[in-house]
Amino acid sequence: MNTTTSTTQTLTRIPHVIGGQQTDEAERYGPVFNPATGRQTAEVPLASAAQVDAAIAQAAEAQRAWRRVGLAKRSQVFFRLVHIINERADELARIITAEHGKTVPDARGEIARGLENVEFCAGLTHHLKGEFAEQVATGIDVHQLRQPLGVVACITPFNFPAMVPLWMVTTAIAAGNAVILKPSERDPSASVWIAEAFREAGLPDGILNVVHGDKEVVDELLTNPGIAGAAFVGSTPIARYVYETAAHAGKRVQALGGAKNHMVVMPDADLDSAADAAVSAAYGSAGERCMAVSVLVAVGDTADPLIEKVAARIAGLRIGDGFDPDSEMGPLITRQAQERVAEYVGSAAGEGATVVVDGREQHFEGDGYFIGVSLIDHVRPGMRVYDDEIFGPVLAVVRVDSYDEAVDLINSNQYANGTAIFTRDGKTAREFQFDIEVGMVGVNVPIPVPVGSFSFGGWKSSLFGDTHMYGPESFNFYTRRKVVTSRWPHPSESQIELGFPTN
Ligand code: NAD
Repeated sequence: MNTTTSTTQTLTRIPHVIGGQQTDEAERYGPVFNPATGRQTAEVPLASAAQVDAAIAQAAEAQRAWRRVGLAKRSQVFFRLVHIINERADELARIITAEHGKTVPDARGEIARGLENVEFCAGLTHHLKGEFAEQVATGIDVHQLRQPLGVVACITPFNFPAMVPLWMVTTAIAAGNAVILKPSERDPSASVWIAEAFREAGLPDGILNVVHGDKEVVDELLTNPGIAGAAFVGSTPIARYVYETAAHAGKRVQALGGAKNHMVVMPDADLDSAADAAVSAAYGSAGERCMAVSVLVAVGDTADPLIEKVAARIAGLRIGDGFDPDSEMGPLITRQAQERVAEYVGSAAGEGATVVVDGREQHFEGDGYFIGVSLIDHVRPGMRVYDDEIFGPVLAVVRVDSYDEAVDLINSNQYANGTAIFTRDGKTAREFQFDIEVGMVGVNVPIPVPVGSFSFGGWKSSLFGDTHMYGPESFNFYTRRKVVTSRWPHPSESQIELGFPTN
């Protein structure tokens, strides 16, 4: 990484990685901040459409060779990468904390979840197996191959700067594609680290390229004829735009969007466990998780005791710099995010809700983007705090009379990423998993992110496309199936046959 001297401080310049080379050439640069101090620490080059086009051409050339590399050799790259990430996870965690703000242990957690995808891809020889049917007609066999798409684009959000890139690039590369990774311009350094770790693990140059930028880069990736497929994770409006634009350009696309995740607490639940889970899932990573619980659905008479228990736990939360070992929650990503969250909390009372804990009342030293956590009761659909994804440490409580009312509430929401039920009754839990129209469901598990051997994805406005991300489904996304029908007749068996073959 290069450094440049501005009038006030020395700034790191975060490089692109294109064709194995680091470069920070650009006409425009964007600022990268440390959210815990509010100070700019680096600048990131924002690539032009022409730079993206050149990177795609290099990637295409590298991909033609990569798809010929034997599967055993390919899988060795993933085994070595597992080792590198395990050995140096703390280094990557500190990079994440410096740009995102989450605590170092939380950053270690996202690395561990991303590592599952590397481990899964080490078994690529199994995941890329095709199918074979012998004697489908007399003397005729059929087999199906899985072949890579070519060069694919992976566009990622700020909130998991290591895990979400690892969701995408692992399978794409394992399947024989080359990747242009466009990370969030807010915390881009983790992607550069991942690309360098892949190189160290033996990945040839040009297979994993990191091209930084904003809308200009994304638009080029979505329309450039050299890109065969695009994977996206981010907010719903952008996910919809990415899905429509890439599909219109004839590309395969999966675009994961935002969320409003409900946690239902039944009257028979253990309320202390439910309160622990709600606080952890609502306020961990400052609520900036797509699987964060943002709505607590209190069924029957659970609301009052549950709110009391949640509020008591909030009083003990320690908020501070993610590098401080005592901190349990860090700052938000930007000043704008901090102001947006404060504005939502401020508007809740005017809409008829009751603000039980107001995070705006907590004061912090310095210029970091900190805000205290909020708990808001008597929330209903139609209020902005319910309808919008706030993406901050705000937990809304909706009171309902029955299980059916809870299910109706959740099924009426436009978002359908994750949900959870807390109960001690197996029948209720089973009915919930059957009834609920949400992609990922937890039973006494507040954040049900599937392990790496399953796939991740929401429904409705939380995912545009038809395949979920990472795991087995992503091998479908990143490969094209080709079906070969073959016959080896003796010349004496040959004859003219104009009719449609039936055997
Ligand atoms: P975002 O939508 O602002 O940005 C995501 C990516 O899109 C970034 O790389 C960004 O540079 C790019 N982008 C932003 N504006 C664009 C535009 N107008 N045109 C083209 N590209 C654009 O999201 P974010 O703030 O970085 O991340 C938070 C959001 O991501 C939340 O809504 C969260 O729920 C969602 N998220 C969803 C999942 C999931 O699995 N469903 C996972 C993580 C995050």
